[in-house]
Amino acid sequence: MKNLTKNFARAEKAEEVVTYGSLDPSVQELLSAAFEVRQRAYVPYSGFKVGAAFRSKVSGQIFTGCNVENAAFTPCSCAERTALAKAVSEGTTEFSVGAVLAYEPDVFTTPCGVCRQFIREFATDDIPIYVAQAIDARITAKEEPFQNEDPVLCTSIFNLLPSSFRTYRK
Ligand SMILES: [Zn+2]
Repeated sequence: MKNLTKNFARAEKAEEVVTYGSLDPSVQELLSAAFEVRQRAYVPYSGFKVGAAFRSKVSGQIFTGCNVENAAFTPCSCAERTALAKAVSEGTTEFSVGAVLAYEPDVFTTPCGVCRQFIREFATDDIPIYVAQAIDARITAKEEPFQNEDPVLCTSIFNLLPSSFRTYRK
C-alpha cells in the first residue's frame, strides 16, 4: 500500500528565513519585479496590495501579477494567479522559482490556499517560493525597496502544499 503515497509532494528542504543580501541576484531581480507590479494592485476594498513574480523554467522570462479586486468580492484574483494566468496565456507553463510580496507588520504573507493549488498545477518539482515584505514607508521616503538585512522566507510549493491534489493522467 505504501506505493499509493510515493508520488505525494514532499519538500526536500525545510523552510528558512534568510536575509535579502544573501539571495542570488536572480532572486533579488524577481523580488524587485514583484515589488514593481505590486504598486499596480487594484485593491479599492481591502487596500491590501500583493505582488507576485514567476520565472519561466525554459526562457528565464519573468511574469508578474498583482491582486485585482471586484465589487462582488467572489471574482477577486490574487497576485499569484494573475501572474500565472498571464504566463500561461503567453505560452509558458513551467516555472523555476516564484516570489510573493505584501506587507503586514511582523508576519510574512504566504500564498492563499487557492493559489497554492494553482501554483502546484504548474510545478511538477518543488519550486522555491520567496516571500518578502514590502515596506510602504520606503516608497514614500523614496528609499530602496529592499535592504540587505531584510528577512526573506525561503519556502517551496511542496512545503506550502504537501500531499497536494494532482491528476497524474496527463
Ligand atoms: Zn491567493
